[in-house]
Amino acid sequence: MTADPVLVIGAGVQGLTTGVVLAEAGRRVRIRTADRPQDTTSAVAGAMWGPAMLRPADRVLYWVTRSHAEFTALARDEDSGVHLTAGRMAARFDLGDSVPPEVRLIPDLRRCTPEELPDGFVSGYRATVPLIDMPRYLDHLVARFRDAGGDLRLSPVPTLAEAVAESATVVNCTGVGARELVGDPGVHPVRGQHVVVRNPGIDEYFIELSDSGEFTSYMPHGDRVVLGGVAAEQDWSRTPRRKDSEGIRRRCAEVEPRLADAEVLAELVGLRPGRESVRVEVEHYEGARIIHNYGHGGCGVTLSWGCAFEAADLAEELG
Ligand SMILES: Cc1cc2nc3c(=O)[nH]c(=O)nc-3n(C[C@H](O)[C@H](O)[C@H](O)COP(=O)(O)OP(=O)(O)OC[C@H]3O[C@@H](n4cnc5c(N)ncnc54)[C@H](O)[C@@H]3O)c2cc1C
Repeated sequence: MTADPVLVIGAGVQGLTTGVVLAEAGRRVRIRTADRPQDTTSAVAGAMWGPAMLRPADRVLYWVTRSHAEFTALARDEDSGVHLTAGRMAARFDLGDSVPPEVRLIPDLRRCTPEELPDGFVSGYRATVPLIDMPRYLDHLVARFRDAGGDLRLSPVPTLAEAVAESATVVNCTGVGARELVGDPGVHPVRGQHVVVRNPGIDEYFIELSDSGEFTSYMPHGDRVVLGGVAAEQDWSRTPRRKDSEGIRRRCAEVEPRLADAEVLAELVGLRPGRESVRVEVEHYEGARIIHNYGHGGCGVTLSWGCAFEAADLAEELG
């Protein structure tokens, strides 16, 4: 291990988690970010730890598994924003018998009975999983990072050349921003929108398993419920759309009528960093090392601890 400071770019869930892992291992770490943590895509996420159908499949399984262990442990600290919550994952088509391997981590997973499925849904599972209240959780990560001696600066990084001039070890956690910073044309936005409402008494989550750009999800976090969702490929707009909010509220109310009149607290938009494959790897760049950690699509929270440990290992191995 060297004493060189590591520069992490980005303060969404990937940058902060990687920063925490490195700082708690005793490394000096600086995070530079273009946006405050509460203004990132990560702050918008629902968020649920759940199966991640992404590539590379073997690495994704490891990252999901590692993250599940961390989130389960974090749920014992109620200030973390992580809580184990029961609910349903359901589909309007027959899900069949095959399930992703990571669902073996869910101790109480079982098929829904027909009576447990909302109208229009034909198949589903009941499962207790970690739900993550992202605004609180990002605060938790920032506090952990600073407690471990980390330095967090609101300071955009215009080029990789500027980054490697500052540090010989750079971890790139820029989400959809990697398209511009790295010049990676494979990164694209998958726009999502949420409606946050006052909780009318809901204590279980619901998520529709679907490939459609419009689906139904709600996730309770204490006195708030986060309602979704939409997924629009190649859409860069960060402005909430009334049409999307109306559709989200209508679909959620069809599944859970108590949400029909719930008071709206906020409408939020985030850009999921879509990519054919998650990128966690080292690039040698002008005599320095850049550890890339981006392209997590709609599963960046689910993958966060696994990817952070791997990115930190790469930084240590080569540092
Ligand atoms: C509506 C919605 C619901 C979601 N639900 C879930 C869910 O339930 N479960 C789940 O696992 N995932 C979910 N996701 C996906 C998840 O939010 C993302 O995968 C994750 O937030 C990506 O994290 P990140 O840290 O890579 O990127 P971001 O959160 O986008 O952070 C990127 C950081 O990089 C910084 N940055 C970018 N460019 C530069 C630069 N040049 N210089 C300095 N800083 C820069 C930004 O300022 C920011 O700090 C959801 C996403 C959305 C939009």
